[in-house]
Amino acid sequence: MPRNQQILLVSRPQGEATLDNFALVECDTPELAEGQVLVRHHYLSLDPYMRGRMNEGKSYAAPQPLGEVMIGGTVGQVEVSRHPRYAAGDWVVGMGGWQLYSVVNPDQPGVLRKVDVTRIAPSHYLGAVGMPGVTAWYGLNKILEPRAGQTITVSAAAGAVGSAVGVLAKQRGCRVVGIAGGPDKCAYVRDELGFDDCIDYRQHPDLRALAAALKAACPQGIDGHFENVGGLVLDAVMLRANAFARVALCGMIAGYDGQPLPMLNPSLILINRMRIEGFIVSEHMDVWPQALAELGELVASGRYRPRESIAHGLAAAPEAFLGLLKGRNFGKQLVKLVD
Ligand code: NDP
Repeated sequence: MPRNQQILLVSRPQGEATLDNFALVECDTPELAEGQVLVRHHYLSLDPYMRGRMNEGKSYAAPQPLGEVMIGGTVGQVEVSRHPRYAAGDWVVGMGGWQLYSVVNPDQPGVLRKVDVTRIAPSHYLGAVGMPGVTAWYGLNKILEPRAGQTITVSAAAGAVGSAVGVLAKQRGCRVVGIAGGPDKCAYVRDELGFDDCIDYRQHPDLRALAAALKAACPQGIDGHFENVGGLVLDAVMLRANAFARVALCGMIAGYDGQPLPMLNPSLILINRMRIEGFIVSEHMDVWPQALAELGELVASGRYRPRESIAHGLAAAPEAFLGLLKGRNFGKQLVKLVD
């Protein structure tokens, strides 16, 4: 069996996460028992939710235990199989964690599924045709319930979730306005993803300026907003929201290191009769097949070309993860583990 490398969580962050919170170790891979497979991970997914798992305390999911392999989605190939339905070479998606190999019992529900890489590149199963894509699909369709002609806004619009929100909302005939950091991200959102407009929030650093930019980009007001960031962006959107506007509260990355994110004008929820609803994508497994089918078709047909930021080698994962938390990624953040 091959030697494995793993990244463990060894301490909990005080405020910002740092490289010292992680340690790279080497270990043997256990022999396979009957019914198990050995998976070699080609890509590891880095996702903002991992920051929440590094903390102790109450959340929607249990904390990542100290001294264990960091949790994470992976796509790779079966290297050795002692399971009748899996063969060496099969491409599979699972929760293999921050390591080169994992030993899995595929009969456990939800731990491994085969994927077809003939029309879709393997890495997209961790992004547009994976958890982030389904997150976009759920929040848009089940919470924002967009109708043709309505205006939808989305923050972190160049990211894995945000880009899918915009592409799907365009499919539904909406006017779609992204909010993203920097001219390059905004150009990608407009020119490559096909959003109607994109606001660079760094050019509008206060509430008045950002609300004015939203007013110009959303002349009919905002009917639905997909929130990934929180803070100033949400406050500005609230000022431009129409009566009965909805907000899908997907993420508040601006506060993941513990920064408070007060809402400036909660009275607007009442005045505009708004509905603001948080959700966790893993609690809605019933929509995954439908969502993945639509997203898979969009990617396979080339109508949605998701962008990726790729770090190389397992040792690069902590640095890339800290970069993701600071917005240094451009599109889905991955780590490539096989050259
Ligand atoms: P992204 O690829 O969008 O990366 C995160 C982006 O957030 C950065 O690139 C950055 O883009 C943006 N950002 C804005 N403000 C800040 C800030 N203050 N600090 C750091 N980054 C900032 O990540 P994902 O698409 O994977 O995730 C997007 C959001 O969706 C996250 O909040 C995540 O937690 C949430 N999520 C929620 C799920 C659920 O079930 N509810 C499931 C999956 C994701 P920019 O440069 O444009 O600012």
